Amino acid sequence: IIDKKNFKYIILGGGVAAGYAAMEFTRQGLQPGELAIISKEAVAPYERPALSKSYLFPNEPARLPSFHVCAGSGGERLLPKWYEEKGIELILGTEIVKANLASKTLISASGKIYAYQILIIATGSTAVKLTDFGVQGADAKNICYLREISDADKLVETIKTKQKGKAVVIGAGYIGLEVGAAMTINEFDVSMVYPEPWCMAGLFTPAIASFYEGYYANKGVKIIKGTVAVGFEADSNGQVKTVKLKNGEVLQADIVVVGVGGSPVTALFKGQVEEEKGGIKTDGFFRTSVQEVYAVGDVATFPMKLYSDMRRVEHVDHARKSAQQAVKAIKASEDGKSIQEYDYLPFFYSRFFDLSWVFYGDNVGEPVLFQDIQDNSTTRPSSTKPKFGTYWIHNGKVVGAFLEGGTAEENKGIANIAWLQPEAKEDLLEKIGMLIAGLY
Ligand code: FAD
Repeated sequence: IIDKKNFKYIILGGGVAAGYAAMEFTRQGLQPGELAIISKEAVAPYERPALSKSYLFPNEPARLPSFHVCAGSGGERLLPKWYEEKGIELILGTEIVKANLASKTLISASGKIYAYQILIIATGSTAVKLTDFGVQGADAKNICYLREISDADKLVETIKTKQKGKAVVIGAGYIGLEVGAAMTINEFDVSMVYPEPWCMAGLFTPAIASFYEGYYANKGVKIIKGTVAVGFEADSNGQVKTVKLKNGEVLQADIVVVGVGGSPVTALFKGQVEEEKGGIKTDGFFRTSVQEVYAVGDVATFPMKLYSDMRRVEHVDHARKSAQQAVKAIKASEDGKSIQEYDYLPFFYSRFFDLSWVFYGDNVGEPVLFQDIQDNSTTRPSSTKPKFGTYWIHNGKVVGAFLEGGTAEENKGIANIAWLQPEAKEDLLEKIGMLIAGLY
């Protein structure tokens, strides 16, 4: 007997995009039994960014069900019961190991077959592992990664068993910075190691980074830049004991957390669908090169209308919006209607310690730092209420904007600036950058 289930729509992946897509399906009209979400994870879609923030707090940590999708955008929190009530089948703890886009089927690790009419690929990213590069000893225990809730649970357990120990955080992107802060709050003795000359080098300017590095140093974090981990030593229990750096330094470690980037999960579809820039190529409706197959969230390389190029965006705001766009497009095409193409303004944010920053637009061209005109001490790491920003000027226009410590209104203001791209008057931006945000 072949174990086969048929659905009109299948969302493959049960992360952020899947949850927002399910919500949109119900808004647009969905019959019970039409939609299934298949996820490797054991829990219903949740707001992944919580895993490197409040999930790791020592006091009153966030736990499910508090951050199920759509809590992060102020929407209704979708509990497992909600899916049940809507007749959406949540197929959890189920890894798909084979996809056949020609026969419109997915096969799970246990051999179950799932057939669909329309597929939405929402498989997200996976954490890049040091073992992938053959780093010596990288398979030691207590070397942690952070992508899924099972990873976060493992990290929380390790934090408990190694209380007030030494933590080495490798990488200074979002995960590195957020986990570095969380480990410090957990009273670990934290060292951060990264090869770049400054943290979050893909986005931050040296001036922005120097503020955050100073802030972390004030919190007692030891920052070791311009080098990488080349090997780990374990104790007799196989638990990590030391981290050997390329610069010759050796660090003691009870926990190592690695945040060296993610890679989109596309392997199931290799050779079956067009790819671009490492992701699955889509149009402005998140349709792939294969009829009735859509790709959203981290895996999609889509037309970024605002900058006339193709991009892949690994951020939660895009995961939500691309999912909504794809479902609207699916529903419109069923009704013989059309919708507007996706027109996205990149939005990234992060929170650590008492800090909170946002970035909108594109970080190309010349950066111009601005600060509070009343109080220029707010760009100093020692400030009690830090507040400063940066505009990026490209071809005479403001194309990107960063703000630390902004109010909701100011954040909205700089988003508008990045969207409208006004002519740049550099000295003005520098002097009254924040007030300018208020004008938009
Ligand atoms: P995901 O949310 O990753 O979901 C993918 C899902 O697919 C997972 O459930 C996975 O198990 C499942 N899956 C994959 N392959 C299979 C398979 N073969 N079979 C079954 N299921 C499968 N972005 C921000 O903008 N701000 C932040 O502060 C921020 N913080 C973050 C913190 C952490 C710890 C992480 C990991 C990411 C963070 N991000 C942040 C990025 C953001 O979470 C992602 O961009 C977003 O989750 C992408 O959504 P997605 O639905 O495409 O993929």
